[in-house]
Amino acid sequence: MTRNVVIIGSGPAGLTAALYAARANLKPLVFEGLEAGGQLMLTTAVENYPGFQDGIMGPDLMAAMRVQAEKFGAELQRIDVTRVDLGRRPFVVATENGDEEARAIVIATGASAKLLGLPSERTLMGHGVSTCATCDGFFFRGKPIAVVGGGDSALEEATFLTRFATHVTVIHRRDALRASKIMQDKAFANPKISFEWDTVVTDIKDPAQGVVSSVHVRNVKTGVEKDLAVDGVFVAIGHTPNTALFKGQLDMDAGGYLTTHDGSKTNLPGVFACGDVQDHVYRQAVTAAGSGCMAAIDAERYLESQGH
Ligand code: NAP
Repeated sequence: MTRNVVIIGSGPAGLTAALYAARANLKPLVFEGLEAGGQLMLTTAVENYPGFQDGIMGPDLMAAMRVQAEKFGAELQRIDVTRVDLGRRPFVVATENGDEEARAIVIATGASAKLLGLPSERTLMGHGVSTCATCDGFFFRGKPIAVVGGGDSALEEATFLTRFATHVTVIHRRDALRASKIMQDKAFANPKISFEWDTVVTDIKDPAQGVVSSVHVRNVKTGVEKDLAVDGVFVAIGHTPNTALFKGQLDMDAGGYLTTHDGSKTNLPGVFACGDVQDHVYRQAVTAAGSGCMAAIDAERYLESQGH
């Protein structure tokens, strides 16, 4: 059976696309992936998703979106897509359970924040460790925090976080920033921001307490180690778009993000992309959801234009 729409990914973009496609009677099949729910599964309270005046836990929001999409007839499968063939029609989407054929595909595979790779970072994610200042900065009102990274994201987050934090320490592994000059000037001029140069984070404390109390750092030039007392750590060392499946099949920018035009359209008619996989600028749950809606509407119009 050829499916009308196969949706790949189950963060806010994929599940919103599923909701709209289901309500348009397209009976979408969603491959949720093994890390179902996307980046919101790594957060705790979400206070900037409209409609929840007291906030909602990230995993609860994703569970609700999932139930809502299923209620209207979306079929969800918690499995990873292993291969896509966009060179033939209908398209082929393969998993370890076999191949599915699809007239249209919505790609919502997201991006993954790069992490330092420390066990304590995983344990404390959402409990003082964050990869999103816009989302979590508010929770650190009146507290000292650290930002890891030396690119535009790190400095943008550091500058934003000074609205809440008493002090922001930027920890960078080299002695020169990668960030643009204008962002550097802004950060250097901010009295609430200081820098730890040539420094790497070797541990985050205190997983046993379930909160961040300090970071252990090491100067890579002098070897000197020390603790910095902070209540939060923002890891801003870049993102990786999850586009490996589409290499050589779809247009991407230099960073590997899918390029879209006129809403959610990729360079291939019938293939649409939404959420963080095509957006390295806004990266918000609400913008991802909005673009998921656009992708479903674009897919519906495409299918209609093809006589389906
Ligand atoms: P980025 O430019 O790739 O910078 C990542 C930073 O993290 C670099 O300073 C890098 O150090 C550091 N880093 C990477 N892996 C690390 C590790 N394992 N441990 C410690 N440090 C690590 O990423 P980004 O800042 O997210 O920016 C991505 C793109 O978006 C860039 O093109 C940027 O210009 C753009 N952007 C623009 C704006 C803006 O214009 N307002 C805002 C945000 C992002 P090294 O420098 O040593 O490599």
